[in-house]
Order: sequence, then structure tokens, then C-alpha cells
Amino acid sequence: MYDLIIIGGGPAALSCALVVGSAEQKEYMKDKKIGIIANQKASDMNAAVLNNLYGVEQGVKGKDFLKDSLKQLDMFKSIEKLNPDTVSSVLDKGEFYEVKTDKDSYQAKNVVLAVGHSKKVKDIEGLDKYVEKHVNTPAAMERFALKNKNLLVDEKGMFVAGVLSGCSSQVSIALGTGADVAVQLLTKWNGGEFDHHHDK
Ligand SMILES: Cc1cc2nc3c(=O)[nH]c(=O)nc-3n(C[C@H](O)[C@H](O)[C@H](O)COP(=O)(O)OP(=O)(O)OC[C@H]3O[C@@H](n4cnc5c(N)ncnc54)[C@H](O)[C@@H]3O)c2cc1C
Repeated sequence: MYDLIIIGGGPAALSCALVVGSAEQKEYMKDKKIGIIANQKASDMNAAVLNNLYGVEQGVKGKDFLKDSLKQLDMFKSIEKLNPDTVSSVLDKGEFYEVKTDKDSYQAKNVVLAVGHSKKVKDIEGLDKYVEKHVNTPAAMERFALKNKNLLVDEKGMFVAGVLSGCSSQVSIALGTGADVAVQLLTKWNGGEFDHHHDK
């Protein structure tokens, strides 16, 4: 049983994983089992060249940014990189969510959906009741979001991050939502008392 599975390999998912991982020395994190399905094949970043991302050199290719961020995650041993396959279902099983890909099946108490805002989100079984039209993109683009309240989709432990949360499509915003979800999870695991982690 995982305490958390993060689904996605773009800026939102990786930012969430990095902020959660950065707190791994905390007492309440000791027995936490955390995995990320960091599928990067369909990230919008694969086509991007970055000129307006804070702290990132002008002209960096989005796909290089993705590769480097995934490598950065290696510093946190508490985050397990699971097979980066396509998730086909996220089902509410009462006590946990069941996350399935073509090859694997996982049980998790919390899940973070950060799979982008394309119509492919509709192919993930179990999410249909949350899917709505994305309002912060031109209507002609046919983008989608998951209904959420401050990034929480389902009280039990389903969160959304990145453009799928309904925010507009800027890397810095996606990163912020991923970090926000991470802080919400750290607070939850800290018994509801606000917590986050700052490195020296
Ligand atoms: C051509 C282009 C240029 C851009 N240029 C800029 C720019 O200069 N500056 C800027 O700030 N923003 C730019 N953007 C926007 C930026 O790329 C997005 O805002 C950002 O990628 C959103 O991050 P995200 O993590 O929410 O989604 P994504 O980066 O799209 O990541 C979603 C992830 O989920 C994975 N995934 C999808 N479905 C599944 C599934 N079923 N199972 C498992 N994993 C799945 C995908 O493979 C992907 O890794 C550009 C976008 C495009 C298309």
C-alpha cells in the first residue's frame, strides 16, 4: 500500500515529488511509501522552448528541462520511480485508490493527478465524474480540468496539479500547484498541523 502515488512526469508532478521528497527527514515521513509514475511522453514541455521561466536560462528546451528535473528527484531516496507507463484507471476502492497501467496495479491512500489538460484525461477510468471543460484556455483548444477545491478533488485523498487543475498553461504556475499539493500532503501527514520544508 502506497501512502501516495503521483501520476505524471511534467512540471506539476515533478515539483510535487520534489517538495514531498525534501521533507523525507521529518519524523512523520519515516514510514511513508511514495511512488511516481513519471511518464514524460505526452508532456506539453516536449514541444516547448523556454524563454520566460524564472531561474531558467533563455532557450532551454522543455524536453531537457523534463529530463533534468527527473534526475534531480534521485536525491530523494523516499520517492520510488515506478514504471513510467500510461495510467488507464484510478478507481475509488473505499479505503484506497487502485491505480492501474497496462502492466501494473497499485494501491494508494492518496493520489495526485498531474496528467495535463488534453482530452486523453477522459480515457482514464474513474475520473469521469470530475472532468469538466477547462475555462482558462481558448474554447477551440478543447482542454479539460478536474473539478477541485483548492486542488483537492476528493476529500479522501485525490489531488490535482498543473494545467489539469484549471490553471492557465505556464510552467511556473504548474510548478506552483504541484508544490501546493505537496505542502497540503505534508500538513495532512503532520496530523493536520501546517508543515513544509525549507532547505538551508
Ligand atoms: C509548444 C508549447 C510551448 C510552450 N512554451 C511555454 C513557455 O515558453 N513557457 C511556459 O511557461 N509554458 C510554456 N508552455 C506550457 C507548458 O508546457 C505547460 O504549462 C506545462 O507543461 C504544464 O505542466 P503540467 O505538468 O501541468 O502538464 P504536462 O507538462 O503536459 O505534463 C503532463 C504529464 O502527464 C503525463 N501523462 C498524460 N497522460 C498520462 C496517463 N494516462 N498516465 C500517466 N501519465 C500521463 C504526460 O506524459 C506528461 O508527462 C508551452 C506549451 C507548448 C505546447
